[in-house]
Amino acid sequence: MNSHADIAIIGGSGIYDVTLFEDPQEIRVETPFGLPSDDIMVGEYDGTKICFLARHGKGHRISPSDLNYRANIYALKKLGVSKIIAASAVGSLNRDIAPLDIVIPDQLYDRTNSRKNTFFENGIVVHMGFADPFCPGMSEILYDVMMSRGYTAHKGGTYVCIEGPQFSTRAESRVYQSLGFDIIGMTALPEAKLAREAEMCYSMISTVTDYDVWRDEEVNIASIMENVAKNTEAVKDIIASSIDGIQDIQECTCQSALDGAITTDRSLISYETSRRLDLLLGKYMEE
Ligand SMILES: [Zn+2]
Repeated sequence: MNSHADIAIIGGSGIYDVTLFEDPQEIRVETPFGLPSDDIMVGEYDGTKICFLARHGKGHRISPSDLNYRANIYALKKLGVSKIIAASAVGSLNRDIAPLDIVIPDQLYDRTNSRKNTFFENGIVVHMGFADPFCPGMSEILYDVMMSRGYTAHKGGTYVCIEGPQFSTRAESRVYQSLGFDIIGMTALPEAKLAREAEMCYSMISTVTDYDVWRDEEVNIASIMENVAKNTEAVKDIIASSIDGIQDIQECTCQSALDGAITTDRSLISYETSRRLDLLLGKYMEE
């Protein structure tokens, strides 16, 4: 069975499959953290081994707060993935970023409050640097592809991640807007943190659906889903055109993020913990 992939695509709201694959197969991947949101589609695109995971499960079954982010990222790591292109639908907090524009964010602000946000627990402490949460090399490629293909793209921007599943109050939205955050969504965290803990390059294509409520407009899920649908073809096109360039990224600091970050004395990490996390920690346990 050909169950290896180099690049993963995590599809957000409205993206439950990508019609990019040659010879796709659906694989159920078990992890020490449980099952990912759905079976993972593994196949090839133009000679590159890629895979696809629907973040909310097919048919949009799983709420942002209930997503098993750890199983999702771990499952991709287990397939051999080193680079993740994540798609997510967002609201705009910036008057220069309009619905149907696309943003490649470069910063995150965490307003979630009930999610497991680390792989490292039960007797191991890892303080990983996370100053720049998205892979700069991948983000550059995604942006260049978007520009060359004529999309209205924004390079950089701060994504504030709220817990949801409700949208923000007007007061919250105005505070986020006044703080200079650019876009608002519910799923980039802890996904990006876990991808970095798993030493994978991670970048996000954020498609804008609405202006949130800070402009005295209402957020209406029907019109949001309408814009999500309009953006779906753009996202697939950008991903297909980016895979070659992303595949060519060789060494990246994302892929050694745990170097020097494991704070616990190796001799005190239990056999059980080190075995459970061997896929992530193995290369550092010999030191
Ligand atoms: Zn990287």
